Amino acid sequence: MPIVIDNDKCEGTGDCVDACPTEVIAKQGDKCVVVAIDECIDCEACIAACPQEAIEMA
Ligand code: SF4
Ligand code: SF4
Repeated sequence: MPIVIDNDKCEGTGDCVDACPTEVIAKQGDKCVVVAIDECIDCEACIAACPQEAIEMA
């Protein structure tokens, strides 16, 4: 299942980027974006790391 980032909630902390073991997410300006969804292994580490609860499985 793909992750979805709610850009309205994201404050660009980068925690999800640091937590992801497969570099699915990258910082882009003051937000983060999904750049390699095919690399996602559904570990949910990004979801656990996000202080804004901006990421969920869609
Ligand atoms: S679920 Fe895991 S592999 Fe997928 S984007 Fe989040 S941290 Fe990365
Ligand atoms: S951890 Fe959450 S708030 Fe921080 S960059 Fe990722 S999605 Fe945005």
